[in-house]
Amino acid sequence: MNDPIPKPVVEIQVQAERRLSSSEKYTTSVFLTINTKRDETLVNPSTATGHRTLKPIPLSYIPMNFSLLSCSHHHIELLLQFRLHRNDHWLCNYLVPKISTAAINAGFGYNDVDLTVRVTVTYPYVFVDETSLKVLRVRLGRIKADELKSLNMETESCSICLKSLVSRLKTLTRMSCSHIFHNDCLVEWLYRKNTCPMCRTVLYHDDD
Ligand SMILES: [Zn+2]
Ligand SMILES: [Zn+2]
Repeated sequence: MNDPIPKPVVEIQVQAERRLSSSEKYTTSVFLTINTKRDETLVNPSTATGHRTLKPIPLSYIPMNFSLLSCSHHHIELLLQFRLHRNDHWLCNYLVPKISTAAINAGFGYNDVDLTVRVTVTYPYVFVDETSLKVLRVRLGRIKADELKSLNMETESCSICLKSLVSRLKTLTRMSCSHIFHNDCLVEWLYRKNTCPMCRTVLYHDDD
């Protein structure tokens, strides 16, 4: 796929632990894990709800471990740039100040410190559900319960799920062939077939 890479969302957790030291030479160790994931949202314009699937994208690093000789931003940045892929150097803007501040707060230079840094980079991809676009094109519109009454259809059932058309929870959709169904049922149906469940009118062509 050649989708443009979406703007990533970065979450960083930093945990600092002081270690009792036996020597006079104090060290600050950083344990860094970076995971990236792909967050896919399928937008369904006919129901306005999307569903999400989380798939990891193969950009994650093996855990890294290094020691800080100073808390200066420049020093930390060099350590990170040496370990990060060139395309990920932008992460330094997020990581450097956090690591520096956490090291200072934990008492850099006065005791041994272990910093555990967990980073999650999420790339939000948004796709439009093509089938639901077709549903939008072929339906005539929503229909209300009182409209159903005036058509003498309030006792009719939806021929997809066989339950009563009149339901407080369900939206009704009238198709271009004028047949009426629960909107949810119809969306499900049109994923599999392109015809009206009642009159078999072809509602769209797959190559449209
Ligand atoms: Zn139904
Ligand atoms: Zn029909």
